[in-house]
Amino acid sequence: MSSADVVVVGAGIAGAGIAFELARDARVVLVEAEDRPGYHTTGRSAAVYLKGYGNRVIRDLTAASEAFLTAPPPGFAEVPLVTPRGALSLVREDQLARLGPTLELLHHHVPAARRVGPDEILALVPALRPAYAVAGIFDPGARDMDVDALFQGYLRGFKARGGRLLTGAAAEQITRVDGGWTIETRSERLTAPIVVNAAGAWADRVAARAGLDPLGLVPKRRTALIVAGPAGFDVSGWPLVDDIDEEFYFRPEAKKLFCSPADETPVEPHDVQPEELDIAIAVDRIERAVPLDVRRIEHSWAGLRTFAPDKTPVVGFDPRAQGFFWLAGQGGYGIQTAPAMALLASRLVRGLSAPDGLGHLLPALAPTRLVH
Ligand SMILES: Cc1cc2nc3c(=O)[nH]c(=O)nc-3n(C[C@H](O)[C@H](O)[C@H](O)COP(=O)(O)OP(=O)(O)OC[C@H]3O[C@@H](n4cnc5c(N)ncnc54)[C@H](O)[C@@H]3O)c2cc1C
Repeated sequence: MSSADVVVVGAGIAGAGIAFELARDARVVLVEAEDRPGYHTTGRSAAVYLKGYGNRVIRDLTAASEAFLTAPPPGFAEVPLVTPRGALSLVREDQLARLGPTLELLHHHVPAARRVGPDEILALVPALRPAYAVAGIFDPGARDMDVDALFQGYLRGFKARGGRLLTGAAAEQITRVDGGWTIETRSERLTAPIVVNAAGAWADRVAARAGLDPLGLVPKRRTALIVAGPAGFDVSGWPLVDDIDEEFYFRPEAKKLFCSPADETPVEPHDVQPEELDIAIAVDRIERAVPLDVRRIEHSWAGLRTFAPDKTPVVGFDPRAQGFFWLAGQGGYGIQTAPAMALLASRLVRGLSAPDGLGHLLPALAPTRLVH
């Protein structure tokens, strides 16, 4: 039996981030079910930083993460965590009515976003089929993220601060004992006054192990694939390209294209794999916009984006069980919001106020909103 101040369940970006922040002045153990941290959703993302993505809460958290991502603490990473990319949303003729309202909403968080016409679209993506889009929205501030550098930076910093990472150590039982929690893994029994549920797609299941009813978090499958770009074009300088209704997106991955049909299929938490049909849908939708070379799909995978019903993360203590803290429901934004979420959540765990500029988000994030 070993004791800690906090046990964090789940070593994805959420668990690694809060563990890093808490380990400054607390004894923290991070337990991960898999043999390798980051094996699930964190290792399967599109690695994009988009300030205009998601609802207002997500956009505020994304903006609040920018300072850390552009200037992480000294020694945190040897490479930049973000690099410029730009993002272009394509608008077909039948979607034109949505351009104005989308741009207006976007301007609140991305003032530099602007409407572009067919000539500029072709200059940005020369292989685009000329008849496909009548207009577009260009966000020059969109960036690629080095997810692995961010994730490893958190884990390295966590360990350097004295934190312990246990892998192959699923939290099997979580029991309230003597005013604290006992967390049992295959090999160890841990005690702590606070347990943080950062179990991604499994967050409701982890809560059930602590005797709590679910909050209604739903894992949704999203598919990704890598294909060669259109023959004769160097795609490496292209922006991220998506559809204004998020029916697909693609972006350069070195000299190839990372593609997704932007699917959101509800599934049970598991080691999710891509479905042939979703791959075919991605190819079909993207081929309407650019001629792909799809004779060979180089690589495909899927990951689980886990959402609360209101598509806003769940951050805070559970009102039903003292010392049980939620850090879940990051959906499709868990990497780009990770620094702000880690800082905010770690302060709440320590009983401190929210960081400057984020206090207004607490009611929207609180688990209380989902407890019936
Ligand atoms: C295709 C795709 C594209 C995406 N693109 C982007 C993007 O461009 N930008 C962005 O910001 N986000 C993106 N996301 C979303 C982002 O990847 C997620 O929001 C984020 O990774 C969630 O992190 P997490 O730590 O909550 O979950 P996870 O990384 O899944 O970590 C949860 C961990 O908990 C562990 N666990 C579960 N149960 C237990 C237990 N009982 N005991 C111990 N451990 C347990 C699991 O093994 C897992 O390692 C994308 C996701 C997908 C699938």
